[in-house]
Order: sequence, then C-alpha cells, then structure tokens
Amino acid sequence: MRCRCGRRAVFHSKVYKVTLCDECYPNFYVEIVGRSVKRYKILRRSERILACVSGGKDSCAMAYALKRLEYKFELFHIDLGIGRYSRECLRSVEELSEFLDVNLNVVRLEDYGFTIEDVDRRKVCSACGTAKRYLMNVFARLNGFDVVATAHTCEDIINFFIKNMLSGNVEYISKLKPRIDSFDKLVAKSKPLFDRTEKENATLVLTLNLPFTSIECPHAPHDVWKEIIYDVELRKKGFKQNFVRSIAKLANFIRLDWNLGHCKICGEVSNSEVCSFCKLRLRYGKG
Ligand SMILES: [Zn+2]
Ligand SMILES: [Zn+2]
Repeated sequence: MRCRCGRRAVFHSKVYKVTLCDECYPNFYVEIVGRSVKRYKILRRSERILACVSGGKDSCAMAYALKRLEYKFELFHIDLGIGRYSRECLRSVEELSEFLDVNLNVVRLEDYGFTIEDVDRRKVCSACGTAKRYLMNVFARLNGFDVVATAHTCEDIINFFIKNMLSGNVEYISKLKPRIDSFDKLVAKSKPLFDRTEKENATLVLTLNLPFTSIECPHAPHDVWKEIIYDVELRKKGFKQNFVRSIAKLANFIRLDWNLGHCKICGEVSNSEVCSFCKLRLRYGKG
C-alpha cells in the first residue's frame, strides 16, 4: 500500500479512510490530537500544563503532540521505586525531555517514606493510582501549573467505564470527561489523548523513533477487558472511538456527589478524615 505522497505506507485506517507513510503520519497524528483538544476544550493556550509521563509510548506521544501544537508545558514523572522497571522508565523520560527540549520534573515516591515495592501485593495497583493522583495534583498546584495532562487512551477510558458500570459505581463516570475543571485544592485534569488509540500512539513513537520504553510494569495484572475491547474493535471498526466520545458526552450528565472535606494530616482534598495517600504513608512509611 502507498501513501497519498507515493511513499510506502506505515499506517492504514478504515476509520479515517487514510493510508499514510512514516513522513505524513506524524503530521496527521498531531492534527487529529489538535482537533480533539479544541473541539472538547481540553486545554487552553494561556495555561501552564504539567504533562505526566511514565516512560511508555502513550505519554511519549502526548508530549510530542503538545510540543508540536506549541502548548506551554513541562514534563512530570514519578519514580515509583519498582526496581529495573522504574530505572528504565526514568531513563526514557530523561531522553524524552532532552529530545523535546522541555523541562522534566521528577518526584520520588521514596521521599515520602515508601515505595510501591513496600505495598501488599494485592493492593499495589490501587496504591500506585492513589500515589500518582495525589503527587501530580500537589506538585502541579504548588508549582503554579493550571492543568495536569495524562495520556489516557480510549482503551483505558472504555475499560474504566465498563468496570465501574459493572460494579455499580455509576457516579465515577463523571471522572471520564476529557477535562475536569479545578475545584478547591484540585488542579484541573485533562486527557488530550482520550479519543486516541494505543495503536495510533505506538505508530507515532515508532515512526519517529522517539525515546520510550516498552518494558511492562512487573505488577501489571492480566486485563481481560482490554482484550475484549480489542476483540469488539476487530469485529466493528470504529467502535472504540465512537464509544469513548459518547462516554465523554454522558459524563457531563453525571455528578459526583460526595462530601469532600480535607485530610486532617496533609490538608489535601479527601472524602474521608485521612486521605488515601496519608493512609499509605501511615501503613508503609518508614518514619
Ligand atoms: Zn506520505
Ligand atoms: Zn492526607
């Protein structure tokens, strides 16, 4: 297959009805990210953006797109202290920062008294999520950023949607908006890649040879729902992106009505007396 420019194609999509080569694809990718960011009012030109990068392909693609779209942003990485995995991730984000010529901020979980390796095996993923949400919010607010950007893909969002629907947490769907404005001590949150697929991100980082790591977190669980989402897409092209855009609309109608107070230890927003991050520190922290 050939690209419209005549070169050998690296990307073919029935959804967009395009066939593109390695030179035309990055421009196409940046254009579709830019279009969604505008249409869904995900980011504003005036804002200072804190772009969270893990070292993996999705956040690498997000940082590249933000750079090309000329948004004002810095990179943010959390060193979770998971052995070789975390060292590889850190190395990739350092290379990315150099490649894009964008400042990188690194926070080490260890500096808060524990690492993910100290947490009970069964609770690792939820602890990791808690730590990331807490640290990115506090860092952004204390350093004058207006909005945090995370590289959730349409697969991540559909996955979260299905799991919460199945467990009856309907109100959690309100968290799936492409942008959640700031509230109290919570900085605004944005998902510029909410309607991008993992394949689109992977094609970008591979064609440009961007620095990223494909090493998997050793704690990552086998996720059957991700496989199911891929299976549906195979049988029904465009399912993922159509579905995620409808989730974005639906999320506007749902209110997360819980009593938000403040953690009596750290003072951050919490729905219980002590926030989940302080609970982790109390449980696993060394002094
Ligand atoms: Zn081309
Ligand atoms: Zn707290």
